[in-house]
Amino acid sequence: EAVMSKYDSHLKCSFCGKSQEQVRKLIAGPGVYICDECVELCNEILDEELFDSNATGAQPPIPRPAPAPQKRGTGTKRLSISQIPKPREIKNYLDAHVIGQEEGKKVLSVAVYNHYKRLSFLEAKKSGKSSQDEVELQKSNILLIGPTGCGKTLLAQTLADLLDVPFAVADATTLTEAGYVGEDVENILLRLLQVADLEVDEAQRGIIYIDEIDKIARKSENPSITRDVSGEGVQQALLKMLEGTVANVPPQGGRKHPYQDCIQIDTSNILFICGGAFVGLEKIVDQRIGKKSMGFIHQSGDSYQVKEKKVVDLMKQMEPNDLVKFGLIPELIGRIPMVAVVEPLDEETLMAILTKPQNALVKQYQKLLRMDNVKLEFEEDAVRAIAKEAFRRKTGARALRGIVEELMLDVMYELPSRKDVSRCTITKEMVEKRSTAELLLHPSSLPKPESA
Ligand code: ADP
Repeated sequence: EAVMSKYDSHLKCSFCGKSQEQVRKLIAGPGVYICDECVELCNEILDEELFDSNATGAQPPIPRPAPAPQKRGTGTKRLSISQIPKPREIKNYLDAHVIGQEEGKKVLSVAVYNHYKRLSFLEAKKSGKSSQDEVELQKSNILLIGPTGCGKTLLAQTLADLLDVPFAVADATTLTEAGYVGEDVENILLRLLQVADLEVDEAQRGIIYIDEIDKIARKSENPSITRDVSGEGVQQALLKMLEGTVANVPPQGGRKHPYQDCIQIDTSNILFICGGAFVGLEKIVDQRIGKKSMGFIHQSGDSYQVKEKKVVDLMKQMEPNDLVKFGLIPELIGRIPMVAVVEPLDEETLMAILTKPQNALVKQYQKLLRMDNVKLEFEEDAVRAIAKEAFRRKTGARALRGIVEELMLDVMYELPSRKDVSRCTITKEMVEKRSTAELLLHPSSLPKPESA
């Protein structure tokens, strides 16, 4: 729930742990919160990061391709075709924030480019600047298939950042058909509207990421056998939104109240990115092509990695009909024409995620400690050990933060009040013990403080 109740006193900043009362402002994201202080800190990290790489010339900063960063609500509204970042520019930007997922990035870059080209075309047409054209450009909503924690939400979020359009995340499993207990599909739009500071025009050109779309699959392929409240009805409701409808959004959220004035939002230009793990879809694909491949996924004796690779290979051969077999209604599939397979993250990729992106975890901790005049280093073996442990947990990159936080707790707690430490080197052993206490217990083992 992106909106936060004022009265929720137990909410805490996910970064520094301060509670809502201890800070001036707590901002909510999907399942996380950040306080104004941490936002400021993050800004500094980014500024310095960009400044650093400028100075050394090591890594060129990633410039935002046109449009130049402008305050939302001013620039992007009148994007002309020449200002829309080209697919290659979009992908470059994604590369700075998301590791791997080459195919997913390409599909997204093209889809998003076409989407905003379509928007600027429609706007030109509306203002009479463009000659009437017979060809209708269709909206290209996107489906991202792949395991949890591998960057699906991050990809969608990064795109929204680049384009400077409002972005909201929704979880398909919380949605229900109107009239049932649960969340109305309209609430997704409300969230987007709130992100857009209640500016309807802005919201109408935003991006919505719908997670766990696979979980609303119909349980049986034959729709007439049972009426599946959680599945098909929700798909129908989503379908309307995806193909474009004018939805009545209750400004207070929740169930519609008879006395509430609704805000009308036209969804026809909102870009929808749907994501899901689609566990078992590979078996459906395998069955279809199985006659040729002899059901190659079922061979026993394969290592975990080999199995995973086979799953990805099969997913990539997916056809719309396989999604129907999986339980999505054909109309919905027809509205999500762009499909990309997002791959599971291996150890090497997890290592890169820890160190490479602009706001990689390692860089964040280095920055935090630098503010206490401590130089923090991670030995490569340590980074590998963190990646190994995260890989073992099978939640993609999600596990990384928890592991690093646990590992760094002692140092983060003690260092600010210690004058005798100016350098911390994290080793593989510390990662394995999940503790940096020894850095503090034996300050003699630390290198001499460097002169200030
Ligand atoms: P999901 O695929 O379940 O939507 P998310 O995009 O929410 O996964 O990923 C969770 C977190 O893991 C992200 O916030 C990001 O920090 C990290 N992450 C996941 N995949 C990648 C990736 N390919 N590159 C960089 N960071 C990633």
